[in-house]
Amino acid sequence: MPLKNFIPPRRLLLGPGPSMVHQRVLRALSTSLLGHLDPAFLALMDDIQALLRIVFQTKNRFTIAVSGTGSAGMEASIVNIVEPGDTVIVGVNGLFGTRLGSMVERCGGKAIHVEAPWGQIIEAETIEATLRRSGPVKAVAIVHGETSTGAWQPLEPIAKLCREHDTLFVVDAVTSLGGVPVEVDRLGIDVCYSATQKCLSCPPGLSPFTLSDRAMATIRARRLPCQSWYLDMALIANYWADGSRAYHHTAPISMLYALREALRLVEEEGLPARFARHRRNGEALIAGLVELGLLPLPPVGHQLPMLTCVTVPPHIPEAKIRADLLSIYGIEIGGGLGPLKGKVWRIGLMGESSTEAHVLTLLNALEDLFIRGGWLSTPGIALRAAARIYGRTTS
Ligand SMILES: *Cc1c(COP(=O)(O)O)cnc(C)c1O
Repeated sequence: MPLKNFIPPRRLLLGPGPSMVHQRVLRALSTSLLGHLDPAFLALMDDIQALLRIVFQTKNRFTIAVSGTGSAGMEASIVNIVEPGDTVIVGVNGLFGTRLGSMVERCGGKAIHVEAPWGQIIEAETIEATLRRSGPVKAVAIVHGETSTGAWQPLEPIAKLCREHDTLFVVDAVTSLGGVPVEVDRLGIDVCYSATQKCLSCPPGLSPFTLSDRAMATIRARRLPCQSWYLDMALIANYWADGSRAYHHTAPISMLYALREALRLVEEEGLPARFARHRRNGEALIAGLVELGLLPLPPVGHQLPMLTCVTVPPHIPEAKIRADLLSIYGIEIGGGLGPLKGKVWRIGLMGESSTEAHVLTLLNALEDLFIRGGWLSTPGIALRAAARIYGRTTS
């Protein structure tokens, strides 16, 4: 028997990524292929570079999409910057900071972890003290939006320290780009990477990536060639950025069509409107969740608008509720990772997923499941709290 056609079940994706994808992006994915050196395709790459410079708020010439998911962008950052023996200070307050540190070690670098409990931010004072006592430091690497905890890391004070200490500043903007400002030039970020499937609302498979001239000069002055051939930005520059357009690897053509369309949607909405939308929906979601006894893990002022991580009280069977949300309502949310496994929910309102309708749909489903479980006796309470944020008052 041949396999049947695969038809994915209907889902509302409100987890930590992938997010919902606009019809226009899905349509772009299904258009016919071009060769990766076709002049029409090269023009499309130019468009993507220009659009990415807008979302990264940069003039960096080297602004591209790395082939691969967010982790490929992370790996590209580390493997190009770090040579054996280099010291890198890494902020570790969740899963992705930990991953950055392990990549530094795999490059033969020395990763000095500056830690904070999961859910908290990394204090600039701790980075400063570490910079002072660590001898020459090649880079400071930090996660802007820690998707494993919902913590929103302030970048500006750390950026300033990097300038004072003449060290490169590497920022993971996988979750934050397109949802909150990522001001590469204003802050002086040297290496910044993201992923398509979070606030840019494109399928996973590409990692937007930008390098300052300072970072590019560091890469070109390496003593040893980058140990990854595939992610070597000095080679990839010949295809993307340097005008020679020399073949390096076959570009993921369809994914780049999709990214161009997703970025066009971002540009049409405008960054300020997009940030405001994420902020408002995140605020409404939290207002509703709090009424259900679900409190955000990160402190006030450091809660990401596109990823809300709430502590689930011990009497609520968190895995069962998530399974019910998926099977009854077709809604996906995320559970906890590492030390937070079984203890938190991670709700993503990223890109196309961030709408008032989705917030209300999720809160309604949670109220229903909480009433069935006997943990809520006042139906409508979470929905009313969210409605107040949207400026609707219901009696
Ligand atoms: C999702 C994510 C990554 C990894 O991206 P993949 O696309 O899963 O490889 C890295 N950093 C952060 C902050 C993320 O949220």
